[in-house]
Parts: sequence; structure tokens; C-alpha cells
Amino acid sequence: MSFDGLGLHPNLLKGIRDLGYTRPTPVQSEAIPQILTGRDVIASAQTGTGKTAAFVLPILHRLMIEGKKRGPRALIVAPTRELALQSMDHLKNLSRYVHLKGCAIFGGVPINAQTQALRQGVDIISATPGRLLDHVNQGHIQFGGLEIFVLDEADRMLDMGFLPDVKKIISYLPPRRQNLVFSATIPVEI
Ligand code: AMP
Repeated sequence: MSFDGLGLHPNLLKGIRDLGYTRPTPVQSEAIPQILTGRDVIASAQTGTGKTAAFVLPILHRLMIEGKKRGPRALIVAPTRELALQSMDHLKNLSRYVHLKGCAIFGGVPINAQTQALRQGVDIISATPGRLLDHVNQGHIQFGGLEIFVLDEADRMLDMGFLPDVKKIISYLPPRRQNLVFSATIPVEI
């Protein structure tokens, strides 16, 4: 199968071609069409399988075709700074021909640059839980317009004790939204 058959916007296909991806990985060809329908999806996928692009591409597509709205419209939550940055890197690389703004939020660095970026308005946030909650508690983020919520490496989040934070984050989100869970394993709690 090629990327052309997945139903993605031509501007995303151009970005994919620029990156040199020739065909979708198995998790991409299974998850992308499902996510594009707007359904909730739980996908079992290890790191290295192309799982990041499996959620980034359909998120970009859905936000693009619905036109400009008040953000943040998509939120990706991941257990580590590296993963939060990896999703933001994919977003930047794949959205070369798309006008959407992203912002990575993680701890261990001064908060001010992130606050500034949030004030200017963002469409997509890729974050670790603790710093995200700091911003929410300080009134820097309102989730009223949120459309898509992603939990990346959900089993690792569970192992690292992030479940209470994740529950708190979810309590701030609008009840009507698309939920995507990516996890190497799918324990019962997930
Ligand atoms: P991930 O599983 O998301 O950590 O991705 C692993 C690596 O595979 C990343 O370096 C991606 O840039 C790369 N990648 C993702 N999708 C594809 C694809 N369809 N073809 C080739 N490389 C890809």
C-alpha cells in the first residue's frame, strides 16, 4: 500500500514525500484511516514502528480540513521530554505545507518561553503531564476548543506513576472529543 490510498490531504502527502517515506508502516496503514473517521482508537505499537506519524498525520489532516478555530485543538501527552519533542519534530517536519502551530511543553526548563508561545496561540500541544498541569493551574491554557486528545506510550505513563496527573488533565478537557491511545502493551488499566 502507498500513502496515496490513506485519504490524507495532498499537502501532507507532499510533506511525506519530502521526508523520503515511501510507504506506510503497518501501524500507519491500520490506524490512519480509523483516526480520519473521527473514532476513538487504541493502538498497540512499539517505539520504532512509525507510531508517531500514525497519529500526527491524521491529526494534521483533521485540523486542516476543518479550518481555523480557537486552539489548542489537539493535545498529545507523553511520559518524557524526549517523546514530547519527538512528536513536535514530526509535526514540524510533516506540516511543512500546512498552516498549523505547535508547541512542546515539558519540565526542567524555564517556563517563560512556553508561556509566551501559548499566549501567541497554538493549534497543537505536545506535553509531559507535570509541566502541562503547571500551565493549566496558572491559567495559561484553556481547553474549551480541544478536539483531539492523544496518550502516547500510555503503558509507560502508568509505570511512571502518571495516572493521577493524566486523570486530572482529562478532567479539564471537553467531554466531546476524539481519544487516541498508543501503547506498547495494553494492560487492563489502560
Ligand atoms: P516512531 O515509531 O514514531 O518512533 O518512528 C520511528 C522512526 O521511523 C522515525 O525516525 C520516523 O521518522 C521513521 N518513520 C516513520 N514512518 C515512516 C515511514 N512510513 N517510512 C519510513 N520511515 C518512517
